Amino acid sequence: MKDTLVKAIAHTGRIRITVASTTHLVEEAHQRHQTWPTASAALGRALGMAAIMGSDLKNDDEKISIVIKGDGPLGDVVVEGRNNGTVRGYVNHPDVYLVNDQNKLDVSKAVGKGSLTVTRHTGLKVDYTSSVELQTGEIGDDFAYYYFMSEQIPSAISVGVLVGEDSSILSAGALVIEVMPEATDADIDIIEDVVEHLKPISQIIHEGMDARELALALFQDVEILDEKELSFECTCSREQMSATLSMLDVSELKTFIDEDDGCEMICHYCNTHYQFTPEDIAEVIHQKISHVN
Ligand SMILES: [Zn+2]
Repeated sequence: MKDTLVKAIAHTGRIRITVASTTHLVEEAHQRHQTWPTASAALGRALGMAAIMGSDLKNDDEKISIVIKGDGPLGDVVVEGRNNGTVRGYVNHPDVYLVNDQNKLDVSKAVGKGSLTVTRHTGLKVDYTSSVELQTGEIGDDFAYYYFMSEQIPSAISVGVLVGEDSSILSAGALVIEVMPEATDADIDIIEDVVEHLKPISQIIHEGMDARELALALFQDVEILDEKELSFECTCSREQMSATLSMLDVSELKTFIDEDDGCEMICHYCNTHYQFTPEDIAEVIHQKISHVN
């Protein structure tokens, strides 16, 4: 079963639904970054929201970037999403494993207090950024607060990651139910009832339901508008890393050749290691000098 994202409406458009099943992409993030269980849960929840918010973008060259900056042991959780269904992301400190009194992964404590910042990169000159204070650090609650404060849309959000005993990802998903301005009191009552009886999304997906089935099961008259595949995919490249290297001073680049026998550049988002030999660096210097002239 592939990771998918489904957009749907119910009650003739007065309720908007977006569901993402993200098990494989969260497992990929876990493997790339070697995240411990609580870090996997925090990063996985954020990646689910990146997939959902990315799917709302209109153009291919736009992206959403989300930074959850807390004072807990995880450090920053940084994720990005695009409307082609690709996401990428990392946490500063992947080696976090905290459980609470109920023996559940303690994401709240791992994230701590701080802020949630969402930036829409338009591909043009102007980016749009808005930021809210973290409410609980559980991530779902924090995004619900963000939706309400920044877009004045009341929403119910469920994000979850189920981590196995061997630290692999058993299931993961995200669900956003938005109450459109035309919604009636009766609609809101129904939403509250649905949300109250909803099992954790990671459990629903673990039991075998896919994103489409879950969307259809939520309300009586769900209409599916769009469905697409999701994946963890990074946009980094050797060329990009080489361009970053060439921004350093020539003297600094020469130290990599003379003293370090080359250098290694690491992409934060996907943890790919790019090796540059002394010959590669000499070429970067050559390009840099000929570029200046
Ligand atoms: Zn990368």
